[in-house]
Amino acid sequence: LNILFLSQIEPPERWLPGLRAALPADRFFTLDAYDPAQIDIALVACPKPGILGALPRLQLVQSMFMGVDPLLADARFPRTVMLARLIDTGMVNAMGETAIAHILDWHRHHYAYRQDKLARRWNRLGQHLPSDRMIGILGMGELGTSVSQRLLALGFGVCGWSRRPRQVPGVQGFHGDAGLQALLAQSDALVCLLPLTAQTRGVMNAANLARMKPGGCIINLARGAHAVVPDVLAALDSGRLAHAYLDVFEVEPLPQDSPLWAHPGVTITPHAAAITEPRTAIQRIAANIELFRAGKPLPNLVDFGAGY
Ligand code: NDP
Repeated sequence: LNILFLSQIEPPERWLPGLRAALPADRFFTLDAYDPAQIDIALVACPKPGILGALPRLQLVQSMFMGVDPLLADARFPRTVMLARLIDTGMVNAMGETAIAHILDWHRHHYAYRQDKLARRWNRLGQHLPSDRMIGILGMGELGTSVSQRLLALGFGVCGWSRRPRQVPGVQGFHGDAGLQALLAQSDALVCLLPLTAQTRGVMNAANLARMKPGGCIINLARGAHAVVPDVLAALDSGRLAHAYLDVFEVEPLPQDSPLWAHPGVTITPHAAAITEPRTAIQRIAANIELFRAGKPLPNLVDFGAGY
């Protein structure tokens, strides 16, 4: 198979030695030297818009990221070609660590103690048990499900929201619009792990934040456009939300003039909740390509109709 490595941000030298070792029978090309007519598979991370449509023999696009919304936003993306998401155990574990770090920061009031330290204020806050807290997870896919199991292991209550009904052990499941309202009404904290689609854009808005239990937090680890920033800031200012942990933003890097930078109620991380990890991702990519070579069905293909 002829495989084109297409990325404007992932350096080929970080990936190609491992890929060549895992798939010794195949030929890898980079943008420096390739024949568009010969490419069977494209490995992509933020490719130049339009470039995939110019590969006439292309049969499979394998994403090097778990989220594919930027690919689907390109109107010239060839929708007759299979698009496989990357499900990388290294990334799934990293996302679990990030979610737990933020949940514990909020649960143990560390976000408040950081402010107290700046003010030289000794102010011990009340203790909650994890079982006092209900964590609502928006998006119960690969990432949301994994995070739910880590939270349950720590003793937190967990409820989860998906598009279709979904049973996950220990998690109270909700789906659809009515399900979202029911989940919000009992959630102290929200962890967003949704794909960005027309239906999920702006889900953390004023009306939905107002339905959460007061004094909670939101943790957006999915896409910036899931949170309506002025609504989040208003909820923080009114005390409705205690804290917002934001990893993703509509414009990245977050512009210097964003009010989020200076707000004491906001923790910012630079889209670093889970970073693609070649050491674990390459095995999964190679396994997918072997399935493709054998003509077997591929897991984690994107449903173009659903948008994820
Ligand atoms: P999956 O596709 O495995 O899961 C998506 C989940 O969201 C599913 O449970 C799905 O429901 C649910 N969902 C989709 N649309 C709706 C809707 N309209 N209403 C309710 N639920 C909905 O995705 P992953 O878990 O692998 O990844 C989630 C997202 O995380 C990615 O799309 C990406 O944007 C983001 N991400 C962020 C990273 C970071 O560093 N910050 C790193 C990696 C990913 P159903 O179960 O019914 O299909």
